[in-house]
Formats: sequence, structure tokens, C-alpha cells
Amino acid sequence: MNDIVRKRPMAEAARITQMLDLALGADRFDRGPVPIEQLVVEYSTNTYPEERVEYVTGAPIDGCVGALVRGEDSPPKWAVLYHQDQSEGRKAYTVAHEMAHWVLHRHMLSDSIYCGVDDVFRGGGIDIEREADVFAANLLMPFNDFRANLPARERPGFDSLGKMASRYGVSLTAAILRWLEYTEVRALVVVSTDGYANWSKPSKPALRTGAFIRTRSDPFELPSDSIAARAEFNEETRAGIEQPPGTWFGEQVVEMAIRSDRYDREITILHLDDRGPVYQEEELVEDSFDQFFRFGEDRRR
Ligand SMILES: [Zn+2]
Repeated sequence: MNDIVRKRPMAEAARITQMLDLALGADRFDRGPVPIEQLVVEYSTNTYPEERVEYVTGAPIDGCVGALVRGEDSPPKWAVLYHQDQSEGRKAYTVAHEMAHWVLHRHMLSDSIYCGVDDVFRGGGIDIEREADVFAANLLMPFNDFRANLPARERPGFDSLGKMASRYGVSLTAAILRWLEYTEVRALVVVSTDGYANWSKPSKPALRTGAFIRTRSDPFELPSDSIAARAEFNEETRAGIEQPPGTWFGEQVVEMAIRSDRYDREITILHLDDRGPVYQEEELVEDSFDQFFRFGEDRRR
């Protein structure tokens, strides 16, 4: 097989997942997350010893969360660096992302690659950054295990999603994004700072019914009655409150939110009912879309 051929991230992650299932048992996540730091060194050493990843280590890499560093030899050996101040969950995701660059992209790299926060956690970067994120999510949180523990029809709150984050040793945000990929319910996540959304992602059923929020590169202001805008974080708002039509969309939503002091972020989850906006008044839906557009434009001025 020609290694220069671009390997598909999902296929490669699936192949390694299968190998781990065989070696450690399909119930391996009951005993702990993917031992990613050990995996990247052992896997690279067993497959291409001359081009292996020699070590994984924390470092004060300015402005980046991770890096795949190229050595001087020919062919080069490599090292994976992660920013030393990351939480354990973010660190695991960063190391998996750098492993992806080694598995998928090392022959395209004539130099070391340094990855920023947008590249690693949201797949916001160029093609190879998105590929590395897809690989990392598939390797650390295989869908078959995720679905078996959080069924596609279930409506989870922060407790259930937090349990999934612990199961896979990833951040809460990473677990929420993964759940949104396969869930059959209409739901969204909005991540904001001081009531201004940094980014948002809908589930596929939510997107199909027009329930999504445009953030692009500009933050927009959350509705003034939202939990995050009111900074009202308590047990009740963590569990979820009902918000009337017109607050977020032209329909009622269940809104739940928490605040992460560590990252100075609010995480809001919106659950919409299964019927979709078919039964809603069209005018209301349009109003809320206009509203979101306006927020976006205000921020650009
Ligand atoms: Zn990267």
C-alpha cells in the first residue's frame, strides 16, 4: 500500500478502534478511556519504527494547544507536544489530534505542525485540521459505544453528558459535540462568554428543521431572557427550564446552562420537541431568524 495516498480519517480511526477492541475487549471503556499517550508511542513504534513518535510531553507552547514535532533524521522521527496547562480531557483530545497528523499527514509535512485551539477542538481549521479532529473524535469516542450508553432517542442533561465525558476522558464540550453527531432528537449547544455566543452546533434533526444559530466568526448576543445572559446559574437552570416561543426560536424550548470558570465560558443546551416547527406559526420562526441575523450584523459594526 502506498503510504503517500491520503488515508481517510474515519477508516483509520475505525481500524485502530477494532485493534483496541480485540486487544482490550469490546467492554474496554468500562475500565477506562483510550490510553492515548501510550497508544501513540506504541502504535507508531509497532507500525513504522523508523518514523515513530518517540515521546509525548507537556510544554509551554505559546499560542498553540498541541504540536507534532519533526526530528532531524531521514526519515524523521517525531514527538507529540501538548500545552501543559490543559485539563486532562482537553489534553487527551489534543494528543489524539496530533496522533491523527502522524497517522494521516506525516508524509505531507516538511516541517513540524503547530495546532491552535480552533483547529483542535472545533475542527475550524483547514482540511487536515478537520481530518485530525474527525480521527480524534472517532478514536476516543466510538459511536457504537457512545450509542449503547446514551441512546439516540434519549434527551440527556449535563449529568448524563458529563458521565460520557468521564467515560472517554474528554472535555464536556467534546462529549456534547459527539452526541450531537448522532442524536435523533432536536437539540443544540451554544457556547458563550458573558452572554455572547462564540459558536453553536445543532443536531442533524434540528438543522433540518431550521433550528440553528448563525455565529460564523462573529459572536452574537444571546436572547436577554436566556440563562447565560441573565447569569443565573443554579440547580434549576442546570436541570433545565422551559422558555416560551420567541425566546430562542418560534417555538418553546427547554434550556439548560452551566458556567465553566476555568475557561470563562457558558455552555447552553437547548432541547426542542420532536414535532418540529411544522405546527408553528411561520411568522414567529421568521422573526427569530431575523433577530439572529440582526445580532450578527450589530456585532460587525
Ligand atoms: Zn492540527
